[in-house]
Amino acid sequence: MLTRFAPSPTGELHLGHAYSAVLAHAARRGGGRFVLRIDDIDGSRSREEYLAAALTDLAWLGIFWDGDPVRQSQRLASYQAALDDLRARGLVYPCFCTRADIAASLAAPHGAPDHSGGAIYPGTCRHLSDEERARRIAAEPHCWRLDMAKATALTGDLEWEEQGQGLRRADPAAHGDVVLARKDAPASYHLASTLDDAAMGVTHVIRGADLTASTDVHRLLQALLGLPVPRYRHHALVCGPDGRRLAKRDAAASLASLRAAGTDGPALAADLLGHRLPTGYSLRMP
Ligand code: GLU
Repeated sequence: MLTRFAPSPTGELHLGHAYSAVLAHAARRGGGRFVLRIDDIDGSRSREEYLAAALTDLAWLGIFWDGDPVRQSQRLASYQAALDDLRARGLVYPCFCTRADIAASLAAPHGAPDHSGGAIYPGTCRHLSDEERARRIAAEPHCWRLDMAKATALTGDLEWEEQGQGLRRADPAAHGDVVLARKDAPASYHLASTLDDAAMGVTHVIRGADLTASTDVHRLLQALLGLPVPRYRHHALVCGPDGRRLAKRDAAASLASLRAAGTDGPALAADLLGHRLPTGYSLRMP
């Protein structure tokens, strides 16, 4: 069994991150391994000080990992190779739309929200000619999108095993033509995370239920790229006293502030492992 915790160093870790890390780290008790991945692909938002703070927070909780942390910023060549492969197979296309372009198309009646609350890309750039693509690639910022209809036609129906629930059907088509390489970053979360889990040999992906819908897309990418399929556990999210899921704005729930207030890290970790939260906090499925 190999599990992982994959923080994005874009803010302070809070109780929700601690809960996720503790559940994944529990693999080590049963003789499994636990690795740390740093999701620092977003160069404009990632900060070294948040990474250093995250490592301090984990050590305070008594969470230690096997091997060196893997940084997504060091794995760009792998993401590029996978994208090249998909491109050679005609499964991705360049998209030149700005946010405003997409918003304008979605104002039309066919615009529909996807499962994750975002919007399904209306497909504006899907049918550009090869000449237009070549000309615009040289001149305009662009991302790369998966041609979802082509991709799902290749793979057929897909499932994954959700701990405690058995097989769950993946519904990647509900997400439309997702972005695999961003305008400002060489891979999207979907592509990087799927490739990393495979490269690191992750057998059990344990993460918040806010990412359950993403697994639809990850399962499709695994099928397209011939990657192993881990098992999944999408756990409940920690909510604050206001009943809303914790966010970076909830400074009182940050691990740094709990530590500063004298909280015992390993005792907190043991409580979280037993799904017990500090007073005022609760666990909810989204
Ligand atoms: N870096 C992601 C986050 O902090 C987690 C990604 C994952 O667990 O797949 O939300």
